[in-house]
Amino acid sequence: MAKLKCMDYGFECDFIVEGEIEQVIEDFRKHTDEEHGIDYSKEAIMQFLLRKQGL
Ligand SMILES: [Zn+2]
Repeated sequence: MAKLKCMDYGFECDFIVEGEIEQVIEDFRKHTDEEHGIDYSKEAIMQFLLRKQGL
């Protein structure tokens, strides 16, 4: 399971996505693209998750 909070990445936004890693990456990308106009790569979001979980 993985979890990302938009707020943790500098947005004033209460969006949180939680679930399987692949799903979290897809949902977070879609959200940041549609809501914030930022197109993170899959790799960038994977880095967010790895850093956060200290893996
Ligand atoms: Zn957001």
